[in-house]
This record gives sequence, C-alpha cells and structure tokens, in this order.
Amino acid sequence: MAELTGETCNLCNKKTLTLREEELDIPLFGKVYVFSMECSSCGYRKSDIEPAEKKEPCRYTLEVSSEADLNIRIIKSGEATVKIPHIITIESGPAANGYVTNVEGLLQQVKGVIQSTMDSEEDSAAKKKAKNLLKKLDAVLLGRETLKIIIEDETGHSAIISEKAQRSKL
Ligand SMILES: [Zn+2]
Repeated sequence: MAELTGETCNLCNKKTLTLREEELDIPLFGKVYVFSMECSSCGYRKSDIEPAEKKEPCRYTLEVSSEADLNIRIIKSGEATVKIPHIITIESGPAANGYVTNVEGLLQQVKGVIQSTMDSEEDSAAKKKAKNLLKKLDAVLLGRETLKIIIEDETGHSAIISEKAQRSKL
C-alpha cells in the first residue's frame, strides 16, 4: 500500500489530505487498484477503484437468498449504478465512491443511506416507509428474506464475483 500525507485538500485547502493506493488481486476479476483520499481537517473522503485490465460495459444481477450469499464479493466503481428493486437506486456521479466489498457491506451502506434520509424526513408516511425498508434489509441480512441486486457499469469496472450472479451486456 502506498500512502502520501500532507497533500492539499480540494475542499478546505489545508495540507491535511492523505492519499492511499492499494493493489488487490481478485480471483475471477483480476488486479484492481483502490484509490482513496481522506482529509483529517474537514472529513472529506473519496474512494474509487480501477481494474488493471480494460473491461466491457456490464450488468450483473444477483438474487440474494441465503446467509452465505452475504459473503459474495462485490466490486463497485464510482461509475456504477446499483439497483435494489423496491428499495433503492444508487446513481453514479462525481460524488459516488468506488470500493471492493461484499453483499453484507453493500446492504449495510444502503441501510446507512436509508437511515439518514429517515432521520431528516418530516413526513410520517415517508418515515414509516423507510422504517419498513430497514426491516426488510435486516431480514435479508439474517438470511430470512431475499432480494435482488443489479449493478450496471458503462466502464465495466464493477462486478459481482459469484457463479450465482448473471452477467449480461449493457
Ligand atoms: Zn479538507
């Protein structure tokens, strides 16, 4: 892992930004570079990934149906759109992070997003809906319910590493 400290932060202009670069070798996918930056002054964080090899645009679909599926590895680039039907769509964009995780990690992130929208929501119907989504996610995390995860990536930098995952052209 390579690390550079004392870089200038784009957000607060202080020289407290740390840049990290890590190389991972992921079976059935190949070598991936993970870049991240973090500012200790203002809390700014950003990460993304880039495979060493060129990849084709892709769509992966995974049915999460057991506790074992929670360990399935997911590579999500900043260019990926993640769709969990009836629950959430996470769009790509300049603020989107890229990372290597697993199904459990992704669902925990989704929970965090829903939790924070719920906390800022005034409308009680919307609050209730968010609460039900969190319940559903908890049940999936315990292996009691199923859900579908779809990842679409124009750059092809994302993947769901499992024989259970269906890969198709985008
Ligand atoms: Zn900063």
